[in-house]
Amino acid sequence: MQAVGVVPGKREVRLIEHGMPRIAGANQIKIRSLEVGVCGTDREICTFVYGSPPDGFDYLVLGHESLGEVVEVGSSVSLFKPGDLVVPSVRRPCRHAHCLACREDKQDFCYTGDFTERGIKMTHGFLTEFYVDEEKYLTRVPAELRDIAVLVEPLTVAEKGLAQVRSIQQRLPWLDRKTPADQFGAGKNALVLGAGPVGILGAMLLLVNGFKTSVYSRSKAPNAKSELLESIGVRYISCEVENVDQLSERIGNIDLVYEAVGTAKISYDILRILGLNGIYVFTGIPAPKPAIAIDADIIMRNLVLKNQVVVGTVNADREAFAGAIRDLGLFLKRWPQALRSLITGRYRINQYRDLLLGKATGIKNVITLV
Ligand SMILES: [Zn+2]
Ligand SMILES: [Zn+2]
Repeated sequence: MQAVGVVPGKREVRLIEHGMPRIAGANQIKIRSLEVGVCGTDREICTFVYGSPPDGFDYLVLGHESLGEVVEVGSSVSLFKPGDLVVPSVRRPCRHAHCLACREDKQDFCYTGDFTERGIKMTHGFLTEFYVDEEKYLTRVPAELRDIAVLVEPLTVAEKGLAQVRSIQQRLPWLDRKTPADQFGAGKNALVLGAGPVGILGAMLLLVNGFKTSVYSRSKAPNAKSELLESIGVRYISCEVENVDQLSERIGNIDLVYEAVGTAKISYDILRILGLNGIYVFTGIPAPKPAIAIDADIIMRNLVLKNQVVVGTVNADREAFAGAIRDLGLFLKRWPQALRSLITGRYRINQYRDLLLGKATGIKNVITLV
């Protein structure tokens, strides 16, 4: 069967004739790939900065943002049946008995670094016709989300980020006692850095949680992303029009920053204007570059005097996947057109070169396999 993969040893990105996977354990499920989202991680793997094949292979099948359909289940599988739509998680646990996190199915917090990731690190991905996975790594998707469920994986970044914020902000009186439980952001200002898919989906999540949400991004408005965001009630601010201090003045106390831009300079400039009791969530993974100057004294002073927390978050757990599916349903009810417009292109598998190696275009591009 066909797959798209990288051959790091030869620095090649190509179509690969990949063996048909088979169910090899009672808890396994065979899945037909329906759609696979392409993101910056895939594009970076195609520059060979990271991305490693499984043991015994010279290639790695790409793809970690998948929507699939169950075609066959192992004898002990109880939660899924053929025909169900599913989204798989990405990270798989390390094998070390002493890794408390992996032993408790919290491989997003793996202590050893010897985890694997489907389509990224030492386990084949989903950009192929069929794949097999264990029941516990799959989450069911309702049929009405069929055309947008490929957005689940990028939304899990924000879901896990917000879960971290909830748990950290228990340290202080964050909400009025009368605030409904689903309005965690009521009366709070959130700032999202970046207007890519992770940023836009993050802004949607913050909005439905009650935050007054702004997005700070490069391109001047109006543009497709600014119009999409403004149509759902997010304030879009271009860094070419307003500098960081003007931004700070406009927003007021910044209670939460959700970084989805992946570059250090602007991210640390924004850390300087984080508000009282503020929390800053980093999700980006910048490529190594020469050292930069930052306002380190102001930042350190603020961290202390303003009780601030900076937290990094990577990967997503079961709850984040379940939350993403629930919230995509909510977004679809509230903003059907804006949500669908996030998927700016659907392509066939043999068009992979443009998507992975060409100029990045649109918001979220998807490869359709059926
Ligand atoms: Zn991705
Ligand atoms: Zn581990």
